Amino acid sequence: MYFACKNLTVRYDRVTALRDVSLELAEGEIVALIGANGAGKSTTLRAITGLKQPAAGEIWFEGSRIDRLPPAEIVRRGIAMVPEGRRIYPYMTVKDNLLMGAYLRQDRAGIKRDLEKIFVRFPRVKERLNQQAGTLSGGEQEMVVVGRALMARPKLLLLDEPSLGLAPMVVREIAKLVTDINREDKVSVILVEQNSRMALRISHRAYVLETGSIGLAGPSAELADDDHVRRLYLGG
Ligand code: ATP
Repeated sequence: MYFACKNLTVRYDRVTALRDVSLELAEGEIVALIGANGAGKSTTLRAITGLKQPAAGEIWFEGSRIDRLPPAEIVRRGIAMVPEGRRIYPYMTVKDNLLMGAYLRQDRAGIKRDLEKIFVRFPRVKERLNQQAGTLSGGEQEMVVVGRALMARPKLLLLDEPSLGLAPMVVREIAKLVTDINREDKVSVILVEQNSRMALRISHRAYVLETGSIGLAGPSAELADDDHVRRLYLGG
């Protein structure tokens, strides 16, 4: 399997945030991870990126175990995360925010090329390159943090609640962006979302986390039709 978490258990002191979580992703897939507040979605991403050491279980990417590697090495292998809450650097320019995503790279020509690619993908970001990032709207900031993650040239992109706090029209833009990045740049995606409707619409498969364990899993279209999922996550 291209990417897999096997029987992950993650604890914060006495709280068990994840218990025996297994999930898989094939190359080229968008996999959604949905679930209520506190179900363990962010914790799953923190374990994958090496920010939180699992108490048990394994994480595999492209044939190697990665769960003991330091976060920078995990980025180098091709996994980048867009954290929850759009952690932009508000006092830095948009351009410098984007360049922070390339901090592990040395190939200046490649960095320049990727920056140009991002300008094509996000014309609104290009218009605001020399502006302080903190002055952008929420949707524009989300585009900058996605752009920043793309500057690391990821093969697998982890997105933590990209639609949080955005107006419906902006959520649609972000959804399209994720689909485009997946299709055109061939980036696999794990999408964590409270907006289950959007997540199930754009993902190929999905997992439902319920208080630290996988409750349901399957093709997103099937889950969107499931009574339990509809009642609990899609508002009936
Ligand atoms: P949300 O959508 O609210 O971010 P989530 O599904 O991402 O929720 P997590 O943030 O992964 O959930 O939290 C899972 C559980 O772990 C929760 O019970 C939470 O209180 C607990 N938890 C998360 N971070 C910590 C921490 N640093 N210390 C102690 N407990 C934590």
